[in-house]
Amino acid sequence: MSSTPQPTPWLLTIPPYIPGTSKEEIAQRFGIAHPIKLASNENPLGPCPAAVRAVNEAASRMHLYPDAEARELRLEAAAFFGCRKGQIIAGNGSDEIIDLICRAFLRPGDEVLIPAVTFSYYAIAAGACGAQVRSAPMQDLAIDVEALIRAVGKETRIIFVANPNNPTGTHLSAAQMRYLLQALPAHVLVVVDEAYAAFARAPDFEGALGLLETHPNLIVMNTLSKSHGLAGLRIGFGFMGESLHDLIMRIKPPFNMNLLAITAGRAALADRDFLEATLELTWKGIDQLRRGCAALGLPCGETQTNFALVHLGGRARGVYDALLERGIITRHMPVLEEYLRVSVGLPDENAAFLEHLKEVL
Ligand code: PMP
Repeated sequence: MSSTPQPTPWLLTIPPYIPGTSKEEIAQRFGIAHPIKLASNENPLGPCPAAVRAVNEAASRMHLYPDAEARELRLEAAAFFGCRKGQIIAGNGSDEIIDLICRAFLRPGDEVLIPAVTFSYYAIAAGACGAQVRSAPMQDLAIDVEALIRAVGKETRIIFVANPNNPTGTHLSAAQMRYLLQALPAHVLVVVDEAYAAFARAPDFEGALGLLETHPNLIVMNTLSKSHGLAGLRIGFGFMGESLHDLIMRIKPPFNMNLLAITAGRAALADRDFLEATLELTWKGIDQLRRGCAALGLPCGETQTNFALVHLGGRARGVYDALLERGIITRHMPVLEEYLRVSVGLPDENAAFLEHLKEVL
């Protein structure tokens, strides 16, 4: 027998998650006082101020366990998103919801289907359960519904579809989503991740919550990380029919939502002004980035998110590195070798990115 602790045989096959580079790292590495981080799709306005006040007030109660079911937060989220409290699980970020879904439904050897270029944590969470991850080809940067349907096999247990998709920024129309759900066999769990749905402007985009009643195999997810500026507190939601809800609740850690996150989430959901300001700033910022890139002759496609994808071809990695040296942190990913992903910042941060990009080129 081996003398060291042995992991599960599949642990070493899991691709590691690579987070965006931090401001601190760049400040230290290049001696830059104030780097600009446009790498993690965070809210450039900062946290929702009502949430900050609520956290300060709640701080004196942090010796108490939170409500294990986060009832008030779920009640208010139900009103905000338009569903019933009994359909919601609150999670320590939507990352935890992804984890809970995988742990509840996957056995080693099961298959999880994802589009070829999408949020990387799906594969990590599925891999942790010993599942095989199969990716379906895309059409350029768009999710190909027909390819997903064709790729379903008899071992397929879960399909993850981010709509809008990260890191491509593309979306499936309401008609495409309905078509996909109708075409998939009822035993396949379909997880529609709407982390960026608040930012979608396309007239044919529609959230999938309205489809929960007719599709008992559907789970929708959302998060307050971006639209409400609470990424550091970790507040995500899973929405599903009551029978899926009962199953997943069996394995939810009792106090997964901490007291400060519950308090902040409730305050943030009530602060409609902050959300409106976020959306306005995001949409103006996206337009500014796309116009700026077009002026430099760089294609930057439509996006339904709070980030833009700039096509730089073979220069992408070099441009990414050169921008880093100048204190501008963007995101370059091996799966999108020819692109930079740029999160929307404040207007002057977007302008600084465009200015440095021009000089670097
Ligand atoms: N889904 C998608 C598509 C994302 O891009 C992200 C954040 N990068 C998440 C989920 C995770 O969000 P949270 O902060 O709620 O865990």
